[in-house]
Amino acid sequence: MAYARGRALFTCKRRYRPCSIQKGLDMAFTKKTVRDIDVDGKRVLVRVDFNVPIKDGVVGDTTRIQAALPTIKYLVDHNARVILMSHLGRPDGTGFQAEFSLEPVAAKLAELSGLDVTFVADTYGEKAAAAVEALEAGKVLVLENVRFDKREKKNDPEIAKILASYGDVFVLDAFGTAHRSQGSVVGPAAYLPAVAGFLLEKEVDTLTGIFAAPERPFVAIVGGSKVSSKIGVLDHLIDSADTLIIGGGMAYTFFLAKGYKTVGTSLKEEDWVERAAEMLKKAEDKGVQILLPIDNVVADHFGEDATGEVVASDSIPEDRMGMDIGPKTEALYAEAIKGAKTVFWNGPMGVFEFDNFAHGTQAVAEAVAELKDNGGTSIIGGGDSVAAVNKFDLADKMSWISTGGGASMELVEGKALPGVEALNDAE
Ligand code: ADP
Ligand code: MG
Repeated sequence: MAYARGRALFTCKRRYRPCSIQKGLDMAFTKKTVRDIDVDGKRVLVRVDFNVPIKDGVVGDTTRIQAALPTIKYLVDHNARVILMSHLGRPDGTGFQAEFSLEPVAAKLAELSGLDVTFVADTYGEKAAAAVEALEAGKVLVLENVRFDKREKKNDPEIAKILASYGDVFVLDAFGTAHRSQGSVVGPAAYLPAVAGFLLEKEVDTLTGIFAAPERPFVAIVGGSKVSSKIGVLDHLIDSADTLIIGGGMAYTFFLAKGYKTVGTSLKEEDWVERAAEMLKKAEDKGVQILLPIDNVVADHFGEDATGEVVASDSIPEDRMGMDIGPKTEALYAEAIKGAKTVFWNGPMGVFEFDNFAHGTQAVAEAVAELKDNGGTSIIGGGDSVAAVNKFDLADKMSWISTGGGASMELVEGKALPGVEALNDAE
């Protein structure tokens, strides 16, 4: 998918709603982006998401740094003075804590980008201001972790003012935190021209595009542990998808909603059976096909060492728990996925962390991975789903893997992201 390929997105009532059809518009991202402003020689303050895993000062997975590179490189190429800020982990907010320092991330950024990157061990003080002052055009400065001061998470206006004083322009590219109203995410937009970076634009465009004008058939796959945590996602996806595939722990609550007498000791949420039934009804009314597992891999306990046996969905023994979808379900789901032009996937099909129960998730991942080469689009959102795709080494085969767990879920629920809301509207 290209950046602005006529993806329909229109801001209605402070929400990103696919209004293109009603309004006859063919719009893409509705906020200004770095392309819309002059950055030559300017001090550009960029909120990135460098919240990467670090152990003993060594950066692990660099996906999030890589994802920020297009915007950073664009700004450098256009002769900006680039000031980067991010959070990392969950420090106490009472000052410096070595394990949460962004210094190793700045070094990794320099290594990956080949750019001239300096780091300053300060965020809101005189040292940071001096480093900003000294920064030359075409060079990059990384500030220390914005969360070393607890005012960041409280969205204290003082924080916003200090950060805004560093820049002529503010760029938000931290999709992973765009759903949080925190100082460095939404604050500077009150004082500076505020635009989106390429990552933010692409994420919002892609994840709202599935509700605007998806190429059909559009098959949505939702799994994971609980109905309660995914109800908003299910509800909104039924508004757009042609087929909704359900797997994972949440399937058992749906079995109860369908009237199966027992799901054994499987994960179930009795309080959510009624809501699950409502979803089934809503899908039926809208002509959306719902696929539920027809067989399951069950075990006698929850553990790495547990072994599975396959049983039909309506005959799970009282003393067994469902841990994965079964082989007939794998085939059924693969077939539905094969016929899709667009797939959105969130939530594993089983307890994929245990090898004995990873098969269903892998089978679905492999089916989804076929799409891209066949002219379809595959979009993956959610922390554990992305981890599963990586575990099976299929990331390269997907059209888009979202870099933001919580933020991607909020978009798929149809919610507005405060960080995006705060940006200037495109003209
Ligand atoms: P995501 O992070 O992709 O949104 P979730 O957090 O909703 O996904 O769910 C992921 C978790 O769901 C995984 O840890 C997985 O082990 C668990 N899960 C999947 N199937 C089952 C099941 N049958 N029983 C219990 N837990 C399950
Ligand atoms: Mg998760």
